[in-house]
Amino acid sequence: MNTYTKLSHELTYPIEGPPEHGELISVAPGVYWLRMPLPIGLNHINLWLLEGDDGWTIVDTGIATDETRGLWEQLFGKYLNNKPVTKIVVTHMHPDHVGLAGWLTSRWDVNLWMSRTEYLMCRNLVADNDKEAPEEGLRFYKAAGFDEDSLNVYRKRFGMFGARIAPLPNAFHRLMDGQKIRLGQYEWTVVVGNGHSPEHACLYNPKLNLLIAGDQILPRISSNVSVRPTEPDDNPLADWLNSCRMLIRKLPPDVFVLPSHGLPFYGAHERLKELIEQHEGDLEKLYVFCAEPKRAVDTFSALFKGDINEGNLIIAVGESLAHLHYLQAEGRMVVETNVNGVNMYRSA
Ligand SMILES: [Zn+2]
Repeated sequence: MNTYTKLSHELTYPIEGPPEHGELISVAPGVYWLRMPLPIGLNHINLWLLEGDDGWTIVDTGIATDETRGLWEQLFGKYLNNKPVTKIVVTHMHPDHVGLAGWLTSRWDVNLWMSRTEYLMCRNLVADNDKEAPEEGLRFYKAAGFDEDSLNVYRKRFGMFGARIAPLPNAFHRLMDGQKIRLGQYEWTVVVGNGHSPEHACLYNPKLNLLIAGDQILPRISSNVSVRPTEPDDNPLADWLNSCRMLIRKLPPDVFVLPSHGLPFYGAHERLKELIEQHEGDLEKLYVFCAEPKRAVDTFSALFKGDINEGNLIIAVGESLAHLHYLQAEGRMVVETNVNGVNMYRSA
């Protein structure tokens, strides 16, 4: 949820403002920053262009709209120095990242590079387009405490995942944790995180001490960590917290972080520690709040400051469940299903 907007005072932002749409800013030798618009509360995504001797690598792609395609063409016309695009790399399967991957790979007749789980999961979810909400999903949200109106929100939004994703290529090239890959003029190391999405690839450049972080480390908002109906017993918060700790171990404290949302920053360790602390704080709040049995939907007031509405209800309940499942796995929360099929959570 974008409700955690605590601004860390320990972060520094060496570049004052973002590039205009359709423009590039150089952030390091051969590494360029561009932005594409998003039609949601979070109104932009940062994307990256890596210049090599023979061509360009694009990292993340924007959502599939005519506006974004037009901005890409504008950039191609202005900035490519007569060199082609040679690789498309996607950090993870969310539509703002993968949306135009299929269009870009056809446009340039090049390959898509992505982790295996992200590619497969994305193709899987896109296949739900125009289908009806399944029984498993309805049961999952009923168990979380959804009333009929809320279930209708789920029914209405089901199958929308693929709406902003152009058809993916039928093959991909695999990114794996620890893999070294040449992109632009440098060798980069793939660093995989989990919890926000199943096998999220970050790219670390040891020579420039620079991390293309995707949604794995964001400076101002916390990445969504949600339980979803396709995997109702999932414990994504454990994956997420482990990933945050892994990144603190692996990354130098003075790494320059290029996030997908917000401004590039220094202070990766401080930010990761803060993200861990926010979740740990939320876990404690929930533990206290559930002294009396609660439904997942009852816990919003303990976890979120902002209004819960149609636009963020699914994310909110996903995040509530992520925290509840974490406590359950620790043995600090017990769940009982009542006669109406609703799960009641009580602190142990
Ligand atoms: Zn994402």
